[in-house]
Parts: sequence; structure tokens; C-alpha cells
Amino acid sequence: MSTQITDHTHFQPLVEASPMPTAIYSGADMIISVANEAMLNLWGKKASVIGKTLREALPELDGQPFHDLLAQVYTTGEPYVAKEGRADLVVDGRLQSFYFTFTYKPLKNAEGQTEAIINTAADVTELVLSRARIRETEERMSFALQSAGMGTWDLNLETNEVIWDDRCKELYGFSKEDRVPYQQVLKYMHTADVERVNRAVAYALTPASGGVYDIKFRTLGADDGKIRWLHCKGNAYFNADGQPYRFAGTALDVTSEAGARRRELQLLSLVERNADHMSIADMEGNLIYMNAAARTILGVDEHEDVTHYTAQDFYQPQEFKRVQQGVIPQIDSEKGWQGVIHLMNRKTHDVIPCQVNYILIKDPQTGEVIGRGATARDLRPELKAKAELQRLATLIDVSEDFCNYCDINGNTLYLNESGRELIGLTEEQYYGKQLYEYHSDASNRLIADELIPQLLKTGRWSGPLELVHQVTGEIIPIHKQMFMVREEITNEPVAIAGIARDLRPELNARKALDVKNAELSALVTEMAFMADSVPVIVWTSTPDGHIDYVNERWNQLSAISIDNSLGTNWTDVIHPDDRQNAWDAWQHSITTGVPFQTEYRCLEKSGNYRWYLVQALPLRDSEGRILKWYGTNTDIQEQKELARQKDNFLGVASHELKTPVTSIKAYAQVMETLFTRSGDTRNAAIVAKMDKQLNRLTSLIGDLLDVTKINTGRLEFHYSHYDFNQMLEEVVESVQLTTEKHAIQKQFKFHRQMQGDRERISQVITNLLTNAIKYSPDANRIVIYTEDHGHEVQLCVQDFGIGISQDKKDRVFEQFYRVSGSKEHTFPGLGLGLYISSEIVKRMGGKIWVNSVEGKGSTFCFAIPVEAPVA
Ligand code: ADP
Repeated sequence: MSTQITDHTHFQPLVEASPMPTAIYSGADMIISVANEAMLNLWGKKASVIGKTLREALPELDGQPFHDLLAQVYTTGEPYVAKEGRADLVVDGRLQSFYFTFTYKPLKNAEGQTEAIINTAADVTELVLSRARIRETEERMSFALQSAGMGTWDLNLETNEVIWDDRCKELYGFSKEDRVPYQQVLKYMHTADVERVNRAVAYALTPASGGVYDIKFRTLGADDGKIRWLHCKGNAYFNADGQPYRFAGTALDVTSEAGARRRELQLLSLVERNADHMSIADMEGNLIYMNAAARTILGVDEHEDVTHYTAQDFYQPQEFKRVQQGVIPQIDSEKGWQGVIHLMNRKTHDVIPCQVNYILIKDPQTGEVIGRGATARDLRPELKAKAELQRLATLIDVSEDFCNYCDINGNTLYLNESGRELIGLTEEQYYGKQLYEYHSDASNRLIADELIPQLLKTGRWSGPLELVHQVTGEIIPIHKQMFMVREEITNEPVAIAGIARDLRPELNARKALDVKNAELSALVTEMAFMADSVPVIVWTSTPDGHIDYVNERWNQLSAISIDNSLGTNWTDVIHPDDRQNAWDAWQHSITTGVPFQTEYRCLEKSGNYRWYLVQALPLRDSEGRILKWYGTNTDIQEQKELARQKDNFLGVASHELKTPVTSIKAYAQVMETLFTRSGDTRNAAIVAKMDKQLNRLTSLIGDLLDVTKINTGRLEFHYSHYDFNQMLEEVVESVQLTTEKHAIQKQFKFHRQMQGDRERISQVITNLLTNAIKYSPDANRIVIYTEDHGHEVQLCVQDFGIGISQDKKDRVFEQFYRVSGSKEHTFPGLGLGLYISSEIVKRMGGKIWVNSVEGKGSTFCFAIPVEAPVA
């Protein structure tokens, strides 16, 4: 609907029909003469505004430029076109902003005067607003990209032109002013990355890749020359033919990220290679990480997955409890926890004392505690070193030697207890004391002139010095060793360490030794004098039998001088008949160590031989080794002479006795026969007793004769083969006849022929049996038994009589030896039987011995070869 106000009514139908908001303002007052529906809507007004001035109709336009613009068009006659001009209108009761593209065109009369203005307007509010919104979004986006340091790039593959934002240029190394065709893109790229980038681009531009481009590479800044790591992401777009037509994306500077990653790697390798144990566990104690040191110490293999383990696997139960209850709750989120914990190697179960540092690990974003980290230092080497140091310190502390430590100026910093005691200083007094104060003047001169210069030169000095006792003033001789201590890094001399030995005990000992030595040499002289003055010859020999000392006596007696008799020369003066025996006996002793005892004749100065009893005993060290033989030669010439006279006498006497006794025995037997025949049994019995005594006499004389034969080497043997058992039976039978009290029990296990002197052997057995009867008056049996020992026969006679004491049993085989004692005197005898028996047995190549228990009885045995030795 429109209203005709002026004469412009011819426009009206046109205006009315126009879909474009249109109005006509008439006259200088701008009366709204025509306004179509669209314009009214645009204004948000009713048709009633027609006929009113524009000012009246739209009062909200006051203060906006429209009135002025209209006035300008009216007066100038120039039309006005506005694009997207803003107008604030009251629509729906609210003042709202709208954007219009509008025209004010003058309508002129025939005279060319403006009469009215036609206003057309198009509402472009939506367009303007949406464009503003797009711009805003773009702005926001680029702001976001900018703040993320991200650049954008867009390659038009058809024109080969790249559109970069400034950031992107900067990142790719170009200055903002540069115009960059695609060919130059690689200009600032790190040469090492170029090929990789080219490949990635080529791949992204193939449809198979889906157009995805995602790569990191380095560029070199044109302005700053800085190497940057870029992370480029993009997409290629393909047309229906699969041809790429656009390739666009973003570039992000990840230099710091790469740095952070590198730093992280560096840190990790530092952690991995750290000598200390480092581990991380979650709050439940499940392990997450362990460095190499931790693996070694805890017994986890190099590539083993540690997440299988919990903290519990690395503690002994007791320690685990302590850590769980006492340590874990104490791990403070600020300071952590430090202390000593005993970890355990899960393989070896070794317990390792460690200095442990616990910290809580937090999520850097949220601050939430997510785990516990531990660093642990194996304290064993430290403890060992400390213990060693302590031991050393204790050693020095308790050392009996004087130990001191002075600074380079000689001020005493340390003096051990022995040192303090030696020079009479208390613990409080020694510190700082000048070393020159406690050395003698002579030593001080030596220290200053010789010792310090040498210490500086060679680092050490040793020699005798003198200390001065700080209380008594006594001069104490010492042997001192000194060392220069230098600073480890600068090698500057910093201190002097010393250790000294008190020489007084040594000097005293030496003095004492001198005294002892003097005493000893006096003693030796005395001994030599004594040895020379004794009537016997005294000598010593080396362990191998060389005579190395003979006393003066030798010179007086022997045909040769001492010098000529040393070594083995002494044998020269031995009687040729005795020499071999003497030599053999001596060799036997030096090889076996048994005492040496023999008799031989020695040539005297006078040219005669004299008999000597030669004896020697070995002197042994603590291990029983022979050090020396000590021997004596005793003159037994007279004893020998007497023994010879005795033997002569016995020989003559027994021989002279033997003949009359044999005749008496014959007469006695005749007498006994005569008496028996005449029926005079009384006298026959007397004569029989006489005959018995004659038998004993004969046997005694026989013994005496045998002894003289033995002594003069005239005992003869008659060897033959004979039946040993038959001989035994005969002997036993005849001895059995002499006793009624004792039964002789026989146990014979030897049943062979023997070769030997049958008579002499029966003599021995008879002797053993008669002794057994004689020395067991209270017993009623004797046992005789034999054993076959292969090449030997052993025979024993056992009695249950008085026995022989241990110390005497071996002496019963000596000539004339009889066991003395009150009881024994009741047994008659000469002490010759066993001597003769033992000589016979020895001559036959056998041995004889006795086992006896005093009061219980004796067993006499001999063993002789079955075959007679080749004489
Ligand atoms: P005698 O003529 O004294 O018996 P022997 O030479 O036969 O001489 O014995 C020496 C000593 O040995 C004896 O005096 C005796 O003391 C001791 N004797 C010998 N045989 C025995 C024995 N069977 N039991 C105890 N003592 C014995």
C-alpha cells in the first residue's frame, strides 16, 4: 500500500511493485511521500509514517549520518551510493544495527532542481555479519596458530604457487618479505633432511597415501641462522581424476620438543649409567624402572622386565617390614627420606647396606603423587674403606712405635699414645708442640740440615735420631722413618709423618747379649779345660760322622795327633782286627741315630794297643734332628785284662773240675747199683740223691765251660738236619722227669725238619724250661708252644711264676746277671743260662726275647732260621 502525497505519484506503482525496499522523500524537509512495503518492513514502521518527515518517522536516525547525506544529495543534486552502510533502527521496539547497501538518487524537475530523493536499500545485515563472523574465526584461528607458533602453508599445484603465512616463512627460513615460489622451498632445509622430505611430499601426492603428509625436519633460519626442528602436517586434495590440485597444512616449531626429548634421553642415559642404584616404583611398590646399577646390585638381568617385581623381592622379610612400617610413611613429599637400608640381591641373597634417598614422584600437570623414586648407594666399599681406615687409625693409635704427624712448619698435629708416653707428654700438651722441642740439639741440626731437604727431594728419610723426654730430660735413641705428605692435586708438601722405634730395648738387649756372649766364651774355655782334664778322651762329631773335636787327652795317649785324627782319620789307629766292627757300628749309629757303644783297641804312642770302651750320644734339636754326636773313649785295658784272667781261670778251673766230677759220677752210679743189688735201699737212695747233685754240678761246670768258650770265641756248632718235634719231645720228657709239681703242656704248630745244631738248641730249650719251673714255685703248669713262621721257627716257654720287672727284663740275657731282690735269692744259680742261650741263638742267626709281668709270669721266646745260615 502506498500513499500519494506529492506529484511524484507516477513513481508510486513502480515503487510499490519493487521487491527492493524503496522510498521517496520530498522537498528539503524530506517528507516521506512514498514508501513501499519492503521499506516499511525494513524500518520496522507502519504506513502511517507516510506523509511525515523522515526525522519524525525515524527519530532514531538522529545522530546518524543519513540526514546529512540526504541534505547533501538534495543540495548538490549528486546521487549517493553506500555499500554496506550501517544504520541503527528501532525494530520490534529495540534499537538494532543493520547493514544496507543503499542509494540516494535525486529526482529533478525540468529546471534541473532536485525536488525529491529516491532511496533504495538492500538489507545486507546477514551478509555483513556472517562475513564478520568468518573474519573473526579466521582471526581467532590465526591467533591460535600464532600462539602455538604454527605456520600455515598452501600449495596450489596447478599454479605451483605457495601461500605462506609469516610464521610459516619464518619457520621455513625465509624472511617475511620474501616471495617464495615452490621451487625454492627447499632452500633453507637441512641438507640431511632434504631427501626424506622430498620422498614424503611425493608420497603424499599419490592417491594411495590418502594425501597424508606428516614429517619432522630441520630448517636453517635466513635471519637468525638458527636450526629449527619443524613438524609439518598436511593434506593433499585430489580431483575426480586422482590428480592432486592442492596441498596444504601447518608447520610447527618442535625444536624445543625435540630438545626436550633429547634432554630426556640424555637424562635417561645419565640415569641408566649412574653408578648409584636408581629405581622407580608405583605407590603399591610395583617396580616400573631400574637402572643398570640397580639391576647388578639387586640381581636382575640386563633385559629382564622389572615390572614383574615388587619392592618386597629385594628385602629380607625383617627389613621389608621395617621399610614398610617405618620408612615409607615417612617419605615426605618435600624432602623425601634419607637413610640406611639393607637391600638384598635376589639371586645371591647377599644383604647390601645402602644409603638410600627416597622421593615422591608427582604428575607435573596435576601434582598428584604417582610413584616413589629411590637412589641407593652401595655402602659396602665405603664401609670397608672406613673400617680399613679405622683399623689403620687404631693400629697407629695402639702401635707400640712412636707415630707423629706434623705440619710443614714442624707443629705437631698428632702423636699416638706410645709416642706421648715415650716423651712424657699428655694428650692436651702435644698438639701444636714444635718437633724441634722434643728432639735433641744434635737431632735438630740433622733435621734442619739434612732431613728436611731430603724429605722435600725424595719424599722419605730414615735413620737414627734422639728424642728428649719432656719431663725427665732423658735422651732417647730412636730409629725414625719419615715421609713427606703432599697435597693430592697441587702436590704441595703439607705435612710430615713419622714413625720411630725406641732403640733402648735393642741397645740394652745388645748389651745383655754381649755380657752373655762373654759369659759363654768363658764357659767354653772352662769346658775345654774340663774336657782336657778328664781322664777320658772326649770328642764330638758332625751328624754325618766326621770327628770335629778331640780333647787334649788324645794327644797324650794316641799315636797320632788331634789334627791327624779329625774327620775319619781316627780309624787309622784302631787295631786291624777291630777296625771293621768299629766302623760298621759307627755307621749304624749315624744312620739310625742309636747311641754308639763299642770296644776296640787303639794304637798308643808306645806302639802298643790298648782297649777302649767307646760311647757316643746324639744331641738333637727340637725337631729331633741330630746336631752333633758327643763321644768318649774310656780306657778299659785293665778290665779287659782282668776279664781275660777271669776267663782263663774259669776255663782252667771248670776244665780241671770236670774230670774228677765225671769220675765221681761214675763211682756214684756203681755204688748205687751195688747198694740196690745188696738190698740196701736206704744207701741206694742217698747215692741217688748224690748223683742228682752231681748232675747239677756237671751242668754248672758245663755252663762255665760254655761261657769261657763263648768269651774266647771257641764255642763250636755242629750242623745237621733233624726232626725238630722229636727233639722237643725228648727235651720235654727229660725236663718233666725233674719235676712232679709242674705239668708241661705242649702246643706245637711247627712240624718240619730243621737244619742246625740239635744239641745246642736242646740246651737252650732245656734252660728255658728249667728256668720256668725254677721261677714259678707256686704254679703247676708250664706251656711250651711253637709257631711256623715260614723261614723261621718260633718257640716260647710260658710260665705263671714270679715274672720280671719291666726295667730288668732285657738285662737277664747278660753274663752273670741275676735279678736281685729278697725273693730271688732263694733261687740258686750263676746267672749264666740265659747268657749262653742268647749267645747260641744269636750265633744261629736268630733272636731271643722275653715278655713278662711281675707277679704274673714270663714268656721267653726265640726265633731261629729253619735253614742254617751260610757261615
Ligand atoms: P740263673 O742261673 O740265675 O737262673 P739265668 O741266666 O738262667 O741264670 O737267668 C738269669 C736271671 O733271670 C735269673 O737269675 C732270674 O732272676 C731271671 N729269670 C730267668 N728265667 C726266669 C723266669 N722264667 N722267671 C723269672 N725270672 C727268670
